[in-house]
Amino acid sequence: MSKDKLTTCPRCGSDACYEQNMGADYTIYLCYGCGFTTNTLMHSESKFLEEQIEVLPELYKDLIFVDETGLNWMPSATNNPEKGMVYADGSNPQEWKWAAVKVENEKTLKMDMKNLKHFKERDYMDALDYIGMFKK
Ligand SMILES: [Zn+2]
Repeated sequence: MSKDKLTTCPRCGSDACYEQNMGADYTIYLCYGCGFTTNTLMHSESKFLEEQIEVLPELYKDLIFVDETGLNWMPSATNNPEKGMVYADGSNPQEWKWAAVKVENEKTLKMDMKNLKHFKERDYMDALDYIGMFKK
């Protein structure tokens, strides 16, 4: 059984950091304040992390934040086939935004890049809301 709670994000200080304990010492963190995510496998010394980082886009690599416990935080990437995508987009870590792409129409489930909208880092929730992640 998973236990969920809200904690303070070490990266942005928001108290909207969602902590989900999956059991067996495996915990996932997702901050709704800044949109960054980590989990207990993404520790600086872990082989898993090395493998994860290898396949990341450059921007994601550049944006990695290591907290004081050694966990590596990176921007989240949402890809929901029924609603759309939210991902970090930009050419460098100083100038990037959340890109949200909405599924155009619920019948064809087609993602259309003309529905792409950019959101500031702290507007991560708005980006999720734009693609309808909070709608049932
Ligand atoms: Zn945060």
